[in-house]
Amino acid sequence: MQFFNLAHAADPSAAIAAAATSATAQQGASVRFLAGGTTLVDLMKLGVELPDHVIDINHLGLDAIEREADGGLRVGATARNSDLAHHPVVRSDYAALSQAILAGASTQLRNAATTAGNLLQRTRCVYFRNVATPCNKREPGSGCPAIQGANRMLAILGTSEACIATNPSDMAVAMLAYDATVHVQGVSGDRQIPLAELHLPPGNRPDRETVLEPGDLITHVTMPPRPAGERSTYLKLRDRVSYEFALVSAAAAVSMADGVMTGACFALGGVGTRPWRVAEAERVLLGQAPGDEVFRRAAEIALQGARPQSQNGFKVELARRCIVAALARATR
Ligand SMILES: Cc1cc2nc3c(=O)[nH]c(=O)nc-3n(C[C@H](O)[C@H](O)[C@H](O)COP(=O)(O)OP(=O)(O)OC[C@H]3O[C@@H](n4cnc5c(N)ncnc54)[C@H](O)[C@@H]3O)c2cc1C
Ligand code: SF4
Repeated sequence: MQFFNLAHAADPSAAIAAAATSATAQQGASVRFLAGGTTLVDLMKLGVELPDHVIDINHLGLDAIEREADGGLRVGATARNSDLAHHPVVRSDYAALSQAILAGASTQLRNAATTAGNLLQRTRCVYFRNVATPCNKREPGSGCPAIQGANRMLAILGTSEACIATNPSDMAVAMLAYDATVHVQGVSGDRQIPLAELHLPPGNRPDRETVLEPGDLITHVTMPPRPAGERSTYLKLRDRVSYEFALVSAAAAVSMADGVMTGACFALGGVGTRPWRVAEAERVLLGQAPGDEVFRRAAEIALQGARPQSQNGFKVELARRCIVAALARATR
Protein backbone atom coordinates (compact mmCIF):
# COMPACT_ATOMS: atom_id res chain seq x y z
CA MET A 1 0.00 0.00 0.00
CA GLN A 2 1.42 3.42 -0.88
CA PHE A 3 1.26 6.48 1.40
CA PHE A 4 -1.84 8.65 1.12
CA ASN A 5 -3.36 11.65 2.89
CA LEU A 6 -6.46 10.91 4.98
CA ALA A 7 -8.94 13.72 5.66
CA HIS A 8 -12.19 13.62 7.65
CA ALA A 9 -15.00 15.73 6.18
CA ALA A 10 -17.69 17.21 8.46
CA ASP A 11 -20.39 17.87 5.85
CA PRO A 12 -21.00 17.12 2.13
CA SER A 13 -19.77 20.53 0.93
CA ALA A 14 -16.54 20.11 2.90
CA ALA A 15 -16.04 16.63 1.39
CA ILE A 16 -16.50 17.93 -2.16
CA ALA A 17 -14.29 20.96 -1.52
CA ALA A 18 -11.59 18.72 -0.03
CA ALA A 19 -11.77 16.46 -3.09
CA ALA A 20 -11.52 19.43 -5.47
CA THR A 21 -8.67 21.07 -3.53
CA SER A 22 -6.68 17.83 -3.26
CA ALA A 23 -7.02 17.19 -7.00
CA THR A 24 -6.06 20.72 -8.07
CA ALA A 25 -3.28 21.30 -5.50
CA GLN A 26 -1.43 18.32 -6.93
CA GLN A 27 -2.10 17.94 -10.65
CA GLY A 28 -3.25 14.45 -11.60
CA ALA A 29 -3.60 13.40 -7.94
CA SER A 30 -6.33 10.86 -7.39
CA VAL A 31 -8.95 11.24 -4.68
CA ARG A 32 -11.30 8.63 -3.23
CA PHE A 33 -14.13 8.91 -0.72
CA LEU A 34 -13.97 6.33 2.04
CA ALA A 35 -17.33 4.92 3.17
CA GLY A 36 -17.38 1.40 4.69
CA GLY A 37 -14.02 0.72 3.05
CA THR A 38 -14.89 -2.92 2.29
CA THR A 39 -14.05 -2.48 -1.40
CA LEU A 40 -11.69 0.49 -1.38
CA VAL A 41 -9.33 -0.66 1.38
CA ASP A 42 -9.13 -4.17 -0.12
CA LEU A 43 -8.16 -2.72 -3.49
CA MET A 44 -5.63 -0.35 -1.90
CA LYS A 45 -3.97 -3.29 -0.14
CA LEU A 46 -3.80 -5.16 -3.45
CA GLY A 47 -2.28 -2.11 -5.18
CA VAL A 48 -5.20 -1.89 -7.60
CA GLU A 49 -6.35 1.49 -6.23
CA LEU A 50 -3.56 3.94 -5.38
CA PRO A 51 -5.28 7.17 -4.30
CA ASP A 52 -3.14 10.10 -3.15
CA HIS A 53 -5.98 11.46 -1.01
CA VAL A 54 -8.70 9.58 0.87
CA ILE A 55 -11.61 11.53 2.33
CA ASP A 56 -13.61 9.85 5.09
CA ILE A 57 -17.32 10.55 4.50
CA ASN A 58 -18.68 8.54 7.42
CA HIS A 59 -19.65 11.60 9.47
CA LEU A 60 -21.59 13.63 6.93
CA GLY A 61 -25.02 12.83 8.36
CA LEU A 62 -26.00 10.96 5.19
CA ASP A 63 -27.16 7.74 6.83
CA ALA A 64 -30.93 8.27 7.15
CA ILE A 65 -33.48 5.92 5.60
CA GLU A 66 -36.83 7.70 5.32
CA ARG A 67 -40.25 7.30 3.75
CA GLU A 68 -40.84 10.28 1.43
CA ALA A 69 -44.03 12.37 1.38
CA ASP A 70 -45.15 10.65 -1.87
CA GLY A 71 -44.71 7.20 -0.28
CA GLY A 72 -41.33 6.51 -1.91
CA LEU A 73 -38.06 5.83 -0.12
CA ARG A 74 -34.99 8.00 0.41
CA VAL A 75 -31.80 6.17 1.37
CA GLY A 76 -28.74 8.08 2.57
CA ALA A 77 -25.44 7.34 0.83
CA THR A 78 -23.82 6.11 4.06
CA ALA A 79 -26.81 4.11 5.31
CA ARG A 80 -25.35 0.70 6.14
CA ASN A 81 -26.45 -2.25 4.02
CA SER A 82 -27.69 -4.08 7.16
CA ASP A 83 -29.82 -1.13 8.26
CA LEU A 84 -31.34 -0.88 4.79
CA ALA A 85 -32.06 -4.60 4.50
CA HIS A 86 -33.81 -4.69 7.89
CA HIS A 87 -35.69 -1.40 7.60
CA PRO A 88 -39.44 -2.06 8.04
CA VAL A 89 -40.44 -0.08 4.91
CA VAL A 90 -37.87 -1.95 2.81
CA ARG A 91 -39.02 -5.30 4.14
CA SER A 92 -42.67 -4.51 3.40
CA ASP A 93 -42.58 -2.44 0.17
CA TYR A 94 -39.18 -3.24 -1.38
CA ALA A 95 -38.78 -6.89 -0.39
CA ALA A 96 -36.51 -7.74 -3.33
CA LEU A 97 -34.07 -5.07 -2.14
CA SER A 98 -33.98 -6.47 1.38
CA GLN A 99 -33.46 -10.00 0.01
CA ALA A 100 -30.77 -8.86 -2.46
CA ILE A 101 -28.71 -7.19 0.26
CA LEU A 102 -29.05 -10.15 2.62
CA ALA A 103 -27.93 -12.50 -0.19
CA GLY A 104 -24.63 -10.64 -0.47
CA ALA A 105 -21.37 -10.74 1.47
CA SER A 106 -21.57 -11.52 5.22
CA THR A 107 -23.20 -9.94 8.27
CA GLN A 108 -19.97 -8.18 9.28
CA LEU A 109 -19.45 -6.79 5.78
CA ARG A 110 -23.07 -5.64 5.49
CA ASN A 111 -22.77 -3.86 8.85
CA ALA A 112 -19.90 -1.78 7.41
CA ALA A 113 -20.87 -1.46 3.74
CA THR A 114 -22.89 1.56 2.59
CA THR A 115 -25.46 2.30 -0.10
CA ALA A 116 -23.19 4.39 -2.35
CA GLY A 117 -20.18 2.14 -1.77
CA ASN A 118 -22.24 -0.87 -2.80
CA LEU A 119 -23.36 0.81 -6.03
CA LEU A 120 -19.75 1.74 -6.82
CA GLN A 121 -18.10 -1.56 -5.86
CA ARG A 122 -15.75 -2.82 -8.53
CA THR A 123 -15.64 -6.06 -10.47
CA ARG A 124 -14.40 -9.30 -8.93
CA CYS A 125 -12.63 -10.34 -12.18
CA VAL A 126 -9.49 -12.09 -10.90
CA TYR A 127 -7.20 -10.33 -13.39
CA PHE A 128 -8.45 -6.91 -12.32
CA ARG A 129 -7.50 -7.69 -8.73
CA ASN A 130 -4.06 -9.10 -9.60
CA VAL A 131 -1.60 -6.35 -10.52
CA ALA A 132 0.84 -8.93 -11.90
CA THR A 133 -1.50 -9.51 -14.88
CA PRO A 134 -2.61 -7.15 -17.68
CA CYS A 135 -6.14 -5.74 -17.47
CA ASN A 136 -7.71 -3.03 -19.64
CA LYS A 137 -9.91 -1.87 -16.78
CA ARG A 138 -6.97 -1.35 -14.42
CA GLU A 139 -4.43 -0.33 -17.04
CA PRO A 140 -6.08 0.82 -20.29
CA GLY A 141 -4.54 -0.75 -23.39
CA SER A 142 -2.77 -3.57 -21.54
CA GLY A 143 -5.15 -6.30 -22.75
CA CYS A 144 -7.89 -8.55 -21.40
CA PRO A 145 -6.58 -11.98 -20.36
CA ALA A 146 -10.09 -13.01 -19.25
CA ILE A 147 -11.25 -13.40 -22.86
CA GLN A 148 -8.92 -16.39 -23.32
CA GLY A 149 -8.73 -17.24 -19.63
CA ALA A 150 -10.84 -17.57 -16.46
CA ASN A 151 -14.19 -16.17 -17.54
CA ARG A 152 -16.68 -18.57 -15.94
CA MET A 153 -17.99 -15.87 -13.56
CA LEU A 154 -17.90 -13.07 -16.13
CA ALA A 155 -20.50 -11.35 -18.30
CA ILE A 156 -22.50 -12.52 -21.31
CA LEU A 157 -24.34 -9.23 -21.90
CA GLY A 158 -22.95 -5.77 -22.63
CA THR A 159 -19.41 -7.01 -23.15
CA SER A 160 -16.84 -5.46 -25.51
CA GLU A 161 -13.58 -6.57 -27.11
CA ALA A 162 -11.83 -4.71 -24.30
CA CYS A 163 -13.62 -6.07 -21.21
CA ILE A 164 -16.10 -8.78 -20.20
CA ALA A 165 -16.20 -8.10 -16.45
CA THR A 166 -19.46 -8.52 -14.53
CA ASN A 167 -20.88 -5.85 -12.27
CA PRO A 168 -20.99 -7.69 -8.92
CA SER A 169 -23.60 -5.72 -6.93
CA ASP A 170 -26.75 -7.54 -5.79
CA MET A 171 -28.23 -4.38 -4.27
CA ALA A 172 -27.95 -2.47 -7.56
CA VAL A 173 -29.99 -5.14 -9.38
CA ALA A 174 -32.96 -4.74 -7.02
CA MET A 175 -32.65 -0.94 -7.02
CA LEU A 176 -32.63 -0.97 -10.82
CA ALA A 177 -35.85 -3.00 -10.90
CA TYR A 178 -37.36 -0.40 -8.53
CA ASP A 179 -36.38 2.54 -10.81
CA ALA A 180 -33.93 4.08 -8.34
CA THR A 181 -32.44 7.53 -8.87
CA VAL A 182 -28.96 8.44 -7.64
CA HIS A 183 -28.55 11.97 -6.23
CA VAL A 184 -25.13 13.50 -6.66
CA GLN A 185 -23.47 16.65 -5.37
CA GLY A 186 -20.35 17.87 -7.16
CA VAL A 187 -18.26 20.96 -7.74
CA SER A 188 -20.59 22.00 -10.55
CA GLY A 189 -23.79 21.53 -8.50
CA ASP A 190 -26.39 18.86 -7.77
CA ARG A 191 -27.77 16.37 -10.24
CA GLN A 192 -29.99 13.30 -10.39
CA ILE A 193 -28.98 10.23 -12.35
CA PRO A 194 -31.39 7.36 -13.02
CA LEU A 195 -29.60 4.24 -11.76
CA ALA A 196 -30.07 2.75 -15.24
CA GLU A 197 -27.68 5.46 -16.50
CA LEU A 198 -25.11 5.42 -13.69
CA HIS A 199 -22.96 2.53 -14.95
CA LEU A 200 -21.32 2.78 -18.35
CA PRO A 201 -20.90 -0.08 -20.84
CA PRO A 202 -17.19 -0.99 -21.09
CA GLY A 203 -16.76 -0.14 -24.80
CA ASN A 204 -13.11 0.64 -25.40
CA ARG A 205 -12.78 2.48 -22.03
CA PRO A 206 -13.56 -0.14 -19.38
CA ASP A 207 -11.62 1.95 -16.85
CA ARG A 208 -14.53 4.47 -16.94
CA GLU A 209 -17.22 2.61 -15.00
CA THR A 210 -19.78 5.32 -14.20
CA VAL A 211 -20.90 8.74 -15.37
CA LEU A 212 -19.61 10.28 -12.12
CA GLU A 213 -16.91 12.93 -12.43
CA PRO A 214 -13.93 13.12 -10.06
CA GLY A 215 -15.07 14.61 -6.75
CA ASP A 216 -18.77 13.78 -7.30
CA LEU A 217 -20.34 12.70 -4.03
CA ILE A 218 -23.43 10.49 -4.00
CA THR A 219 -25.63 11.94 -1.24
CA HIS A 220 -28.65 9.64 -1.42
CA VAL A 221 -30.74 7.29 -3.55
CA THR A 222 -34.51 7.53 -4.01
CA MET A 223 -37.04 4.98 -5.17
CA PRO A 224 -40.64 5.75 -6.18
CA PRO A 225 -43.58 4.32 -4.19
CA ARG A 226 -44.61 0.81 -5.19
CA PRO A 227 -48.08 -0.11 -6.45
CA ALA A 228 -50.42 -1.45 -3.74
CA GLY A 229 -50.32 -5.23 -3.59
CA GLU A 230 -47.11 -5.60 -5.62
CA ARG A 231 -45.05 -8.68 -4.75
CA SER A 232 -41.33 -8.80 -5.28
CA THR A 233 -38.48 -11.22 -4.86
CA TYR A 234 -34.73 -11.61 -5.42
CA LEU A 235 -33.38 -14.93 -6.59
CA LYS A 236 -29.61 -15.43 -6.53
CA LEU A 237 -28.00 -18.53 -8.04
CA ARG A 238 -24.39 -19.14 -7.01
CA ASP A 239 -21.81 -21.85 -6.45
CA ARG A 240 -22.41 -22.01 -2.70
CA VAL A 241 -25.31 -20.81 -0.68
CA SER A 242 -23.66 -17.96 1.20
CA TYR A 243 -20.72 -15.58 0.99
CA GLU A 244 -20.54 -15.88 -2.79
CA PHE A 245 -21.19 -13.62 -5.77
CA ALA A 246 -23.99 -14.42 -8.22
CA LEU A 247 -23.59 -16.60 -11.27
CA VAL A 248 -27.02 -15.27 -12.20
CA SER A 249 -29.59 -13.34 -10.19
CA ALA A 250 -32.96 -11.76 -10.84
CA ALA A 251 -35.03 -9.16 -8.99
CA ALA A 252 -38.69 -9.30 -10.00
CA ALA A 253 -41.68 -7.18 -8.92
CA VAL A 254 -45.18 -7.88 -10.21
CA SER A 255 -48.66 -6.50 -9.53
CA MET A 256 -51.78 -8.40 -10.48
CA ALA A 257 -55.48 -7.63 -11.01
CA ASP A 258 -58.22 -10.02 -12.17
CA GLY A 259 -55.70 -12.79 -12.75
CA VAL A 260 -53.43 -10.85 -15.12
CA MET A 261 -50.18 -8.94 -14.63
CA THR A 262 -50.82 -5.19 -14.55
CA GLY A 263 -47.28 -4.17 -13.64
CA ALA A 264 -44.04 -6.10 -14.04
CA CYS A 265 -40.38 -5.28 -13.76
CA PHE A 266 -37.29 -7.41 -13.50
CA ALA A 267 -33.54 -6.89 -13.60
CA LEU A 268 -30.61 -9.29 -13.79
CA GLY A 269 -27.29 -9.62 -11.99
CA GLY A 270 -24.25 -11.80 -12.64
CA VAL A 271 -24.71 -11.71 -16.41
CA GLY A 272 -24.11 -8.11 -17.45
CA THR A 273 -21.21 -5.69 -17.44
CA ARG A 274 -23.70 -3.52 -15.58
CA PRO A 275 -26.97 -4.35 -13.80
CA TRP A 276 -29.25 -5.48 -16.64
CA ARG A 277 -32.86 -4.50 -17.39
CA VAL A 278 -34.77 -4.63 -20.68
CA ALA A 279 -38.07 -2.71 -20.85
CA GLU A 280 -39.27 -4.70 -23.87
CA ALA A 281 -39.00 -7.94 -21.90
CA GLU A 282 -41.27 -6.53 -19.20
CA ARG A 283 -43.88 -5.29 -21.69
CA VAL A 284 -44.70 -8.80 -22.94
CA LEU A 285 -45.84 -9.70 -19.43
CA LEU A 286 -48.46 -6.98 -19.15
CA GLY A 287 -52.07 -8.08 -19.50
CA GLN A 288 -51.04 -11.75 -19.45
CA ALA A 289 -51.89 -14.43 -16.91
CA PRO A 290 -48.71 -15.61 -15.18
CA GLY A 291 -47.22 -18.83 -16.55
CA ASP A 292 -43.98 -20.45 -17.67
CA GLU A 293 -44.62 -19.77 -21.35
CA VAL A 294 -44.92 -15.99 -21.05
CA PHE A 295 -42.13 -15.87 -18.46
CA ARG A 296 -39.86 -17.73 -20.85
CA ARG A 297 -40.77 -15.32 -23.66
CA ALA A 298 -39.76 -12.39 -21.42
CA ALA A 299 -36.51 -14.20 -20.57
CA GLU A 300 -35.68 -14.69 -24.27
CA ILE A 301 -36.09 -10.97 -24.91
CA ALA A 302 -34.05 -10.00 -21.83
CA LEU A 303 -31.19 -12.23 -22.97
CA GLN A 304 -31.18 -11.17 -26.62
CA GLY A 305 -27.64 -10.42 -27.77
CA ALA A 306 -26.03 -12.64 -25.10
CA ARG A 307 -22.46 -13.50 -26.07
CA PRO A 308 -21.17 -16.32 -23.90
CA GLN A 309 -17.43 -16.69 -23.37
CA SER A 310 -15.48 -19.98 -23.48
CA GLN A 311 -16.41 -21.01 -19.91
CA ASN A 312 -19.76 -19.37 -19.20
CA GLY A 313 -22.15 -20.63 -21.90
CA PHE A 314 -24.19 -22.23 -19.11
CA LYS A 315 -25.22 -18.77 -17.93
CA VAL A 316 -27.67 -18.32 -20.83
CA GLU A 317 -29.94 -21.21 -19.80
CA LEU A 318 -29.32 -20.56 -16.10
CA ALA A 319 -30.45 -16.95 -16.59
CA ARG A 320 -33.59 -18.10 -18.45
CA ARG A 321 -34.48 -20.42 -15.59
CA CYS A 322 -33.66 -17.78 -13.00
CA ILE A 323 -36.00 -15.25 -14.63
CA VAL A 324 -38.82 -17.80 -14.95
CA ALA A 325 -38.42 -18.89 -11.33
CA ALA A 326 -38.23 -15.32 -9.98
CA LEU A 327 -41.37 -14.26 -11.90
CA ALA A 328 -43.16 -17.41 -10.73
CA ARG A 329 -42.30 -16.59 -7.12
CA ALA A 330 -43.48 -13.00 -7.50
CA THR A 331 -46.85 -14.13 -8.88
CA ARG A 332 -47.48 -17.13 -6.65
C1 LIG B 1 -15.58 -11.03 0.92
C2 LIG B 1 -16.59 -10.13 0.26
C3 LIG B 1 -17.75 -10.67 -0.25
C4 LIG B 1 -18.69 -9.85 -0.86
N1 LIG B 1 -19.84 -10.40 -1.39
C5 LIG B 1 -20.74 -9.61 -2.02
C6 LIG B 1 -21.91 -10.14 -2.62
O1 LIG B 1 -22.16 -11.36 -2.59
N2 LIG B 1 -22.75 -9.30 -3.24
C7 LIG B 1 -22.51 -7.95 -3.30
O2 LIG B 1 -23.32 -7.22 -3.88
N3 LIG B 1 -21.42 -7.43 -2.76
C8 LIG B 1 -20.54 -8.21 -2.13
N4 LIG B 1 -19.40 -7.67 -1.60
C9 LIG B 1 -19.11 -6.27 -1.86
C10 LIG B 1 -19.66 -5.34 -0.80
O3 LIG B 1 -21.06 -5.28 -0.93
C11 LIG B 1 -19.03 -3.97 -1.08
O4 LIG B 1 -17.65 -4.07 -0.76
C12 LIG B 1 -19.65 -2.86 -0.30
O5 LIG B 1 -21.02 -2.74 -0.57
C13 LIG B 1 -18.97 -1.54 -0.60
O6 LIG B 1 -19.47 -0.54 0.25
P1 LIG B 1 -18.47 0.33 1.13
O7 LIG B 1 -19.30 1.36 1.83
O8 LIG B 1 -17.60 -0.51 1.99
O9 LIG B 1 -17.63 1.03 -0.02
P2 LIG B 1 -16.15 1.62 0.00
O10 LIG B 1 -15.18 0.52 -0.10
O11 LIG B 1 -15.96 2.59 1.10
O12 LIG B 1 -16.21 2.43 -1.38
C14 LIG B 1 -16.35 1.78 -2.63
C15 LIG B 1 -16.17 2.83 -3.73
O13 LIG B 1 -17.24 3.77 -3.68
C16 LIG B 1 -16.75 5.09 -3.55
N5 LIG B 1 -17.74 5.79 -2.71
C17 LIG B 1 -18.25 5.36 -1.53
N6 LIG B 1 -19.21 6.20 -1.10
C18 LIG B 1 -19.31 7.18 -2.04
C19 LIG B 1 -20.13 8.34 -2.17
N7 LIG B 1 -21.06 8.64 -1.26
N8 LIG B 1 -19.98 9.12 -3.26
C20 LIG B 1 -19.05 8.81 -4.20
N9 LIG B 1 -18.23 7.75 -4.12
C21 LIG B 1 -18.37 6.94 -3.05
C22 LIG B 1 -15.39 4.94 -2.89
O14 LIG B 1 -14.55 6.05 -3.17
C23 LIG B 1 -14.91 3.66 -3.55
O15 LIG B 1 -14.38 3.95 -4.81
C24 LIG B 1 -18.46 -8.46 -0.95
C25 LIG B 1 -17.31 -7.90 -0.41
C26 LIG B 1 -16.37 -8.72 0.19
C27 LIG B 1 -15.13 -8.09 0.75
S1 SF4 C 1 -12.60 -8.69 -18.13
FE1 SF4 C 1 -12.22 -6.52 -17.75
S2 SF4 C 1 -11.55 -6.52 -15.63
FE2 SF4 C 1 -11.26 -8.62 -16.36
S3 SF4 C 1 -9.19 -8.75 -17.26
FE3 SF4 C 1 -10.56 -8.18 -18.90
S4 SF4 C 1 -10.39 -5.95 -18.91
FE4 SF4 C 1 -9.70 -6.61 -16.92
